[in-house]
Amino acid sequence: MPKQVPAQLSGETTVKFLLDSMLGKLSRWLRMLGHDVLYSTKLNDSELLEVAKKESRILLTKDLELYQRAVAKSIDTYYVKGETESDHLAELAQQYNLTLTVDMERSHCPICNTKLKSKPKEQLTSELKKNTLTYYNQFWRCPNCGQVYWQGAHWKQITNTLNEAQKKLMKLKEKTSLC
Ligand SMILES: [Zn+2]
Repeated sequence: MPKQVPAQLSGETTVKFLLDSMLGKLSRWLRMLGHDVLYSTKLNDSELLEVAKKESRILLTKDLELYQRAVAKSIDTYYVKGETESDHLAELAQQYNLTLTVDMERSHCPICNTKLKSKPKEQLTSELKKNTLTYYNQFWRCPNCGQVYWQGAHWKQITNTLNEAQKKLMKLKEKTSLC
């Protein structure tokens, strides 16, 4: 059995979220950043409130009416304001003290929210293209859905968005300290 350091001992904040159906992209980012994120397009508003309460998840929503219903029920909730992915990440990082860097050892599968496990590439030779195996050395697999991840060509875009979010976070912090 691999040893796992509990999140509260690793010095980083991990938060359990529940996202409304408008925040699909954000769910994948938060999972990659290591958070436990529940996202389903099938839950209606009442069900979202119920699940948030039952599982002690913070409800993130872009729906003002749903946000107000959650507040009225004393459910931990946050009304997401920004438009772009980096806006969302910056405001959430400020609100919940999240780290805006990806550590794949902590990442959850963006597709299904299961914690990823690192995989030696020798075990992936039949599944991946030869070029991928030649150029990359670190791979992770989702033990639930089987998806394999590596920091490939698309990784630059991911880093760019996170850098953008970091800059926006700095600005938000400046604003707060001026108030
Ligand atoms: Zn998965």
